[in-house]
Amino acid sequence: MKVFVTGGAGFIGSHLAERLLARGDHVLVLDDLSTGSMDNLAGCIGQPGFDYRVGSATDVPLVSELVDRCDVTVHLAAAVGVRLIVEKPVHTIETNVRATEVVLGAAAKKGKLVVIASTSEVYGKGVRIPFQEGDDLTLGPTTHSRWAYACSKALDEWLALAYYREKQVPVIVTRFFNTVGPRQTGRYGMVLPNFAAQALRGDPITVYGDGSQSRCFGHVADAVESVLRLIDAEDAVGEVFNVGSDREVTILELAQMVRESAGSQSEIQLIPYAEAYAAGFEDMQRRVPDASKLERVVGYRPRTPLEEIIADVVADQRTRLTAGAPR
Ligand code: UDP
Repeated sequence: MKVFVTGGAGFIGSHLAERLLARGDHVLVLDDLSTGSMDNLAGCIGQPGFDYRVGSATDVPLVSELVDRCDVTVHLAAAVGVRLIVEKPVHTIETNVRATEVVLGAAAKKGKLVVIASTSEVYGKGVRIPFQEGDDLTLGPTTHSRWAYACSKALDEWLALAYYREKQVPVIVTRFFNTVGPRQTGRYGMVLPNFAAQALRGDPITVYGDGSQSRCFGHVADAVESVLRLIDAEDAVGEVFNVGSDREVTILELAQMVRESAGSQSEIQLIPYAEAYAAGFEDMQRRVPDASKLERVVGYRPRTPLEEIIADVVADQRTRLTAGAPR
């Protein structure tokens, strides 16, 4: 199989590319290197079956050519990270919506299978835990930039499902919950690489709010496995899937676990939201996936234990720190 991965130099994309190559598939990566990095592709470059282009997923002729050359497209290119999203809302909306439109338009010409990456952010402020794919989306006001991200990804989903219904393009939508692991950078605000770097440096671990908000962290290897199985599952076409672990942890507990895993003496510091984010930012209190649909269709659900996930991220941050690489 030949797989086109947009955003393939990013965190999830580079793990997907590596895994595909390891099982003998061909991989073609497109990335504009805005948040992705060639370093992430160190294990792919020069491998048989691997090729890449530096360019934008909004470039119509380029994307059309690359979609045509492959059997499946996994569209991961997007503006990511709460910090980036709040600071650059125009870029976020435009990148997310345009690129998805371009990818789906190209796939429609020859009816090629496309996986559209979405996010648990689309559940917004929903309080019915765990979140199921058919739940209502509860988004906040347009005056708060965070919701622009959720809304742009929800539009991506609608567009994908519209292409499926109206133009018979085979699409699969994956809603990734907090996906973490080696190579994820803390630069765009993601909590786990930040905590790991802080703990290893002996800096205060910055817990926003009172730390009672919770998340479920899934290992990137589990996310990749889920995507690969969905591509092979006939029943997945035209459907939306939660992809995430259901082990819930509060952010305060996470800070304690990271400190322990790193063998660190760092203090845990509570930072008021008003200091952590721009005015008007709203955090989500709880976010837990119901992954039973994924399990029903592909016989698999993300299960790497949180302790193992944290150890992996701490080890990765330790390597970066030693190498003087950006966190
Ligand atoms: N968070 C934190 N300290 C940090 C970064 C994030 O306490 O240095 C919190 C953040 O406010 C949120 C949770 O950790 O409640 C997860 O944040 P992240 O940005 O990783 O993901 P998301 O908010 O998209 O779930």
